[in-house]
Amino acid sequence: MEFLFKQHLKDTVQKPLLERFAHLADAEPSLDSLAAFQEEALKEMVAYAYEHSPFYHEKMSQAGIKPEDIQSLADLAKMPFTIKDELRGDPWKLLACDKKDISIVSVSTGTTGGEEIYIMYSWGDHYLTDSPGHPKLFNLKSGDICINALPYEMSSAGMSFHKVFSEVQQATVVNVGKGGAYSTPEKIVQVMADLQPTAFITSPSYAITLAEKAAEASIDIKGMPIRKMWLTGEGCSDAFRKRVEKIWDTRANFHYGSLECGVLGMECDDHAGYHIPLGLVILEVVDPKTGEVLEPGEIGEIVATCLLRFNTPLIRYRTQDLGYIDPEPCSCGLPFPRFFLRGRLVDHLTICGVNFSPFYLEEFLMRQPEVGNWYQFVIKKRNNEQLKIRAELAQGVEPTPQLADKLASKMEFATGVPCEFEFVTKLARPGVKTVRVVQEEGE
Ligand SMILES: [Zn+2]
Repeated sequence: MEFLFKQHLKDTVQKPLLERFAHLADAEPSLDSLAAFQEEALKEMVAYAYEHSPFYHEKMSQAGIKPEDIQSLADLAKMPFTIKDELRGDPWKLLACDKKDISIVSVSTGTTGGEEIYIMYSWGDHYLTDSPGHPKLFNLKSGDICINALPYEMSSAGMSFHKVFSEVQQATVVNVGKGGAYSTPEKIVQVMADLQPTAFITSPSYAITLAEKAAEASIDIKGMPIRKMWLTGEGCSDAFRKRVEKIWDTRANFHYGSLECGVLGMECDDHAGYHIPLGLVILEVVDPKTGEVLEPGEIGEIVATCLLRFNTPLIRYRTQDLGYIDPEPCSCGLPFPRFFLRGRLVDHLTICGVNFSPFYLEEFLMRQPEVGNWYQFVIKKRNNEQLKIRAELAQGVEPTPQLADKLASKMEFATGVPCEFEFVTKLARPGVKTVRVVQEEGE
């Protein structure tokens, strides 16, 4: 929180609000004081959106809502949702400022299809978004050397973390990126060998790709002084994370966010769910069908309201991710409530009429020591009465029919659906995003 309230901002629209709450910077803020801040920020942000954003003015008018109707956090439920498809089309539509005040534009990666989504920030919005929320969650310091192997091009990921690591935490950032014009896995591991980083951020699958390249080049990654690693950009099971931690010999915390919303949650070292950065965002969990707000502990769709984006507001955005909120205190001592993810609505697979998150299946698969780090769940288009798992085997493991049967029955026992295994020597390594689920024609 400290960052939000102590930095000297230019004359941004959020400045008076942050100055009124400057006292939050000094001590460990209580949940009550954070709730008071959220309430004020919500009221101001909604009023600003109504006045300055034609998109939200229209939306609120259609729902019969005026800014004065939003007086408390509970009133947020009166506001209409914003959905992904509304962000497509006119690139400038969300703006609550002049076009000339936009300082950065990012573009959706298109992995979910459809027209591009442009997410824009004014300088003030950009500067404030993605701050860590609490120093314990991103505890870098001056002298840390952080390898940032997230995409810098189009995406907001590389830039966002770059800003937080270098500006907020005064660490040294190495912008190796991921898959850019000059950025190859071979070159990144060489840079890491030369600079001996103390921190590292990338996606789960790219962490494996880089480790493989390091092994090919006889670069000792376990000997590097990396004391902290963050994984983000694609989902991953805890079992897969444990593999990454073992390979890199460090602690790896998940970070959850999206192009549209920015940061939404960060794991602490206790790996007990994502802490919600209360200074930046309000998260709700709603029934995906009815839109009704659910109680803590109930699983539903995560809905995000960004509190400090005044010039480019995003209110009650439906993330299409499923999860639940746990308000109980965390063992790490941080007061921020946590949420747990349960996969993406769009990624769920239906096999034998049963709905699965791919990460639920991955959890069981990655617990099998014979299975390597690369796999695909193959879904047959016509006849998906069986889950086919195409996988590499761990080094030195022989691909025998007996092993395929053994693994298939283990997976079937864990998931309740019939499984079959196809062993391959090497699956293609992904360039940008890993594809874990592939559709093929059925017999
Ligand atoms: Zn914690």
